[in-house]
Amino acid sequence: QQEQWRKLVQEPSVTADGHTVELAANIGTPDDVAGALVNGAEGVGLFRTEFLYMGRNALPTEEEQLQAYRAVLEGMGGKPVVVRTLDIGGDKELPYLQLPKELNPFLGFRAIRLCLAETDIFRTQIRALLRASVSGNLKIMFPMIATLQEFRAAKEIVAEEKAKLQASGHAVSEAIELGIMIEIPAAALLADQFAKEVDFFSIGTNDLIQYTMAADRMNEQVAHLYQPFNPALLRLIDGVIQAAHAQGKWVGMCGEMAGDLQALPILLALGLDEFSMSAASILPTRSALRGLSQLQLQQLREEILAKATPEEVLALLDEQLEEVY
Ligand code: PEP
Ligand code: MG
Repeated sequence: QQEQWRKLVQEPSVTADGHTVELAANIGTPDDVAGALVNGAEGVGLFRTEFLYMGRNALPTEEEQLQAYRAVLEGMGGKPVVVRTLDIGGDKELPYLQLPKELNPFLGFRAIRLCLAETDIFRTQIRALLRASVSGNLKIMFPMIATLQEFRAAKEIVAEEKAKLQASGHAVSEAIELGIMIEIPAAALLADQFAKEVDFFSIGTNDLIQYTMAADRMNEQVAHLYQPFNPALLRLIDGVIQAAHAQGKWVGMCGEMAGDLQALPILLALGLDEFSMSAASILPTRSALRGLSQLQLQQLREEILAKATPEEVLALLDEQLEEVY
């Protein structure tokens, strides 16, 4: 099987009926780029920038960040690279920021919330990204967006820093897309409004499942409630994709669900455009795609969304897809 997969490294990510999607890699450091390419990644769908900030005693400088972002953009050689701005807080701590202990860190001061409050940290990262933008195909993504106001504020900061950089003689790409992660149910439910203003969505199922089911993603005792195939979650995902497509925007997914072969037919049925996953999952997914018909799956969309439980969703797929893999 490994041999079969290897042959697909340079092949397109296309279904049996000719529907093309993008299979991208989730990375955490510039060193991960090589592995992404060896495994046939068509882009980076999620660069978690936290690593730059972790395991040290002080914030990374603009120059340090610039080097890392440039290395990834150049390494990917013009393929799309979605860089997520700092997503600290929740389960990811930065001791040197000395943030107060919180009772509910996953519902607290994290990610874009922290960045919009501590704007020096955020502006430094944005400047580094803008300066790196001329080295490749950069897309900037904001994590944990709950309100349009947050997106507008972040977008405004990007515009301000871009103007300042250009005024001081720095080149900045004019083609940078700005998108948001959909990982809070409020943003998923309001996707039609967001879709008018963002360039893309990327669905972060790791958090979206946790917040939709009110089940801590780290807590074993409620792991049975952490249900990727719950129709409640599938309806949220569907709404996001429909809303984006109505505005001509693309939708990716960068949570674990994107690399789950059991989820693949469902996500194709719902019309997902980009799947971002650990590098090791890309070739198995590309191989599985070749055995699936998007047109056929699309016809199951309403039936899937009308199911009541995860078990019913999976039974429907089992019944419809014999011997797909
Ligand atoms: C997610 O929430 O699905 C996601 C990709 O982000 P992280 O796992 O880094 O929270
Ligand atoms: Mg997340």
